Amino acid sequence: MPSNDRERRDREAELASNLSAVNDRMQRKLLTYGNPPDVDRIPESVWTEFRQEVQEAVARTAIVAYLYALATMPEATGVAIDSARFEVEAELWSKNQASKVADEYVAHTRQRLAEIVPEVRAVQAGPAADIRRHPSFDAMLGPTRAETVASTEVTNGFSHGETDYADSATQQLDEPFVMMGFWVTERDARVCPICAPLDMLPQPRYAVLFPKGPPAHPRCRCWLRWMKIRRDEIPF
Ligand SMILES: [Zn+2]
Repeated sequence: MPSNDRERRDREAELASNLSAVNDRMQRKLLTYGNPPDVDRIPESVWTEFRQEVQEAVARTAIVAYLYALATMPEATGVAIDSARFEVEAELWSKNQASKVADEYVAHTRQRLAEIVPEVRAVQAGPAADIRRHPSFDAMLGPTRAETVASTEVTNGFSHGETDYADSATQQLDEPFVMMGFWVTERDARVCPICAPLDMLPQPRYAVLFPKGPPAHPRCRCWLRWMKIRRDEIPF
């Protein structure tokens, strides 16, 4: 277990809760356009506002995860760097990342909604005529989706913060030493076929596929371990 496990869980819970609140508001708003909603009557401003709320929720937690990860690095690397140096980078990265996540989140919601409305409309009566009973309605705007995004983006924040710090730490080390990340999986039965072969791979190997480390996929539970090693001893 990584030492930041507690912080990771707290940040995930925070973002999942904030995104769930955004989802709930959006569910209620969509239902004001009918049940099932008349997609053509939903003004663009509803989607713009939804996107803004998702982005703000993600950015708020992502920057905290990034900065927390930085704060663990002096001890993990043995190299002290003034963290004020990373404040602008933290701000930029979290905004940019949150913007990408929000774009995907909204695009997916719009697409799923457009797909399920005709299915619900085809049902004349009974519980299935209520879009809230459609399994995809909860999948697109329910707590599970909020938890998936929360877990993935907190992992992203940790990996980016740690990697940015380690890059700067390497510049302060005397040749031939470098700070090297190693990919660590949870090594239990739930480790997926994507992550299993990544276990203990050094940075030059995993970075080919995932430049900043985990997550390798949504809900990836992997993390990075940092070691000061000699450049000529990088294991392959
Ligand atoms: Zn993983």
